[in-house]
Amino acid sequence: MKDFNINRLVRKNILELQPYISFRDLNEFKKPVFLDANESASGELNRYPDSTQKTLKQKLSVLKNVSADQIAVGNGSDELIDLIIKVFCEPKEDAILMMNPSFAMYGFYASVNANSILLLDLDENFEIDKSKFLRMANEKQPKVFFLCSPNNPTGNSVEDIEFYIRNFNGIVVVDEAYIEFSDKKSCIDLLEKYPNLIVLQTFSKAWGMAGVRVGAAYSSKEIITLINTVKAPYNVNSLSLNRISEAIDRKDLVEQNVKNTLAEMCWLNHELQRLKSIKKIHPSDANFFLVEFEDVEKVYLKLFENEILTSKRSPKIPGCIRINAGSREENIRLIETLKTIA
Ligand SMILES: *Cc1c(COP(=O)(O)O)cnc(C)c1O
Repeated sequence: MKDFNINRLVRKNILELQPYISFRDLNEFKKPVFLDANESASGELNRYPDSTQKTLKQKLSVLKNVSADQIAVGNGSDELIDLIIKVFCEPKEDAILMMNPSFAMYGFYASVNANSILLLDLDENFEIDKSKFLRMANEKQPKVFFLCSPNNPTGNSVEDIEFYIRNFNGIVVVDEAYIEFSDKKSCIDLLEKYPNLIVLQTFSKAWGMAGVRVGAAYSSKEIITLINTVKAPYNVNSLSLNRISEAIDRKDLVEQNVKNTLAEMCWLNHELQRLKSIKKIHPSDANFFLVEFEDVEKVYLKLFENEILTSKRSPKIPGCIRINAGSREENIRLIETLKTIA
């Protein structure tokens, strides 16, 4: 990783771009009169939000123990996935690499940006075959590798993540959407070691704030500057910024939520195992199980008829449905319904 030059990986037109930053967000004022943005003088939400998201980044900086200029904030981590592709992948030329099966949004945004998708098929235990990875990484030279750990929809974590960061001649994005549920360490600790690493986290899962739409990227100062350059200036609204800042101040609530969810996962695992209709419960480091059923179509339909919505992964993952832990009441309804299936 010596002599790493980020500019080699960045799209040329992006390198030439100047970021749009609101002048007022770059300065401190004592008693300002804002007549610069054609806003209304009155109204509860009359002002544009802080385009630099300063307050939230300071809180995240303390929470995650990284410098504030190593953080980018997005309208969900989904937006950050799109922005990362926009920074590095030349439309119609470059490719992304992603695990298969994994989170569909990597492929979706690659397609939207006219980039091709290389699928790295996981083995029967949903693990990465290292030699297959090396072959695909070297032959096709994809620009960005999306590595999801714990992986959605399989639930397991990727072992030896550093191997993939070290042996990839481009940007490695480690998506840690479910890291709070896992006992594995976050890759944020590896940022100093690897200049090609981006870590994604979200407030949509363990933090219980999917409706607020906020995610964060942690990386080198250079990569974060590039992401901030391509983002829409006011990509996260003031209501959302405030709600997330408040949630960080009460992070004991999140820890409690994670504890409850893990207790429900434990209960679900126990109850699911006793059901005859089940073939296999895949081990999970997240807040969901990938479950293989004897007759997946029958099970999915039965649950659906009872207005219990789950995520059918069959036929792509044969026989499998992804089911996340709900409240105890919801989980009981799931199990009781499953019990009615012969
Ligand atoms: C749910 C999820 C996200 C979260 O996306 P947001 O846009 O932040 O809601 C990101 N990555 C993975 C793998 C997920 O499962």
